[in-house]
Amino acid sequence: MVKYDAIIIGSGQAANPLAKKLAEAGWKTALIEKKWIGGTCINVGCTPTKTLVASGRVAYLVKRSADFGIHTTGVSINIEEVIKRKNAHVSTARESSTKSLLETDNLDLIFGHALFSGPREITVTKDDGAVAVLTADKIFLNTGTRPVTPSIPGLADIPYFTSDTIMDLEEIPRHLAIIGGSYIALEFGQFYRRLGSEVTIIENNTRFLSKEDEDIAAAIKAILEEDGVRICLGVAVEGVAREGNGVRLTVKGGAISASHVLVATGRLPETAALNVAAAGIAIDKHGFIVVNDRLETNVAGIYALGDVKGGPQFTHISYNDHLIVYKNLLEKAHCSTAGRLPVYCLFTDPELGRVGLTEAQAREKGMNIKVATIPASHIARAWENDETRGMLKAIVNADDNTIVGVAMLSVAGGELMSILQMAMVGGITYDVIRDAVFAHPTFAESLNNLFAGLK
Ligand SMILES: Cc1cc2nc3c(=O)[nH]c(=O)nc-3n(C[C@H](O)[C@H](O)[C@H](O)COP(=O)(O)OP(=O)(O)OC[C@H]3O[C@@H](n4cnc5c(N)ncnc54)[C@H](O)[C@@H]3O)c2cc1C
Repeated sequence: MVKYDAIIIGSGQAANPLAKKLAEAGWKTALIEKKWIGGTCINVGCTPTKTLVASGRVAYLVKRSADFGIHTTGVSINIEEVIKRKNAHVSTARESSTKSLLETDNLDLIFGHALFSGPREITVTKDDGAVAVLTADKIFLNTGTRPVTPSIPGLADIPYFTSDTIMDLEEIPRHLAIIGGSYIALEFGQFYRRLGSEVTIIENNTRFLSKEDEDIAAAIKAILEEDGVRICLGVAVEGVAREGNGVRLTVKGGAISASHVLVATGRLPETAALNVAAAGIAIDKHGFIVVNDRLETNVAGIYALGDVKGGPQFTHISYNDHLIVYKNLLEKAHCSTAGRLPVYCLFTDPELGRVGLTEAQAREKGMNIKVATIPASHIARAWENDETRGMLKAIVNADDNTIVGVAMLSVAGGELMSILQMAMVGGITYDVIRDAVFAHPTFAESLNNLFAGLK
């Protein structure tokens, strides 16, 4: 059995920086990865999807070019080149991460599948078939999630896609049916629509984007529908079957015929194949590893970071998890997940930048709030750019004027949100931003207008 100071399983967004830092601090460290360095984000998540979204936006702008006085002779989309560009970005990110890990002293990068074979014993079946048994005082689990396969009759018998697989499809679907209507579904739906596909999103919840405020959700829905995405709410897919070269989805009272199907119904943790039971690690009913706010599992010395521990599934959360663990262990800090602001973006175009509470959440808490909203058409720069879809919204604590939540649905919405996130972190009150001098005409300048209407 090979003894390490630290074993990290899964090369996700927490693992790589943690492995490097522990090794650089002199810890003998092993990082075990069964597939690709960089995990979901680099390989099948953020990097490839945002690369595709960028291609979709170019197609959209070229189609609108006459609005700007620029005339083209039409749009011709080469999906093979779109995918090739995406693959090039993924390879660059993956290769540079791999190189950086391989060049780190004290760090063994092991390609293989890891599982617990005892309380503190990890068995790795390497890619070449060799088996190694490792142990360490500290073990970090960053094994992430995989797409859920819903139990829809017939699904196993049709060639459906998940977000992991559709990004290699070198064909523009004639009609893409997307089962699920959440963030991943919307990003793919708008992308394929912009490439020319007919797109139908089928969501069984009657409320669109139920975690967002109703006005924000309605604005996003209107934008997607204006782009030609069909959104069916309160519709459950009861069965699927092959139909000619395509697929027939049976829904209550009817059917939808599509050429391709994307299943986007959420992600579940990679814990079963890790055999966490052998180490006595507690998991919840969905298989997510249970941790405290210092990311410690119920077993001393074993930590879980990133998506596998449940909660918000984002790259920045996983990255921040590694900081918490590293600082607590190496710098004797007292970092925790408590009080971490919920922050994320939905990368439709325009994008939604979100941080803190929604209006509904603030009201549920019984807070005394003021709500500021303006349409994106009141953003001078957006108007000059002829991209005025969306709205800006901020929730202010009326007792002390601090900002408690933000939803920026606009071109550059993620950046606008981040400006207000900084204000929230620094305790800058809304009236300071209302009266601040921002350069004209930036998107940021619109924050003056957003707060100008608040009494
Ligand atoms: C389509 C899509 C788009 C997304 N877009 C965004 C976005 O725009 N912004 C954002 O913040 N987040 C986005 N996310 C979420 C983001 O990708 C994840 O939250 C992020 O990658 C964090 O993952 P992680 O660190 O928990 O682990 P992951 O990145 O999932 O890595 C886990 C790694 O563990 C490996 N592994 C698992 N089990 C074992 C085992 N037994 N032995 C060895 N290795 C193992 C896996 O192969 C994988 O490489 C997106 C996700 C998807 C699917």
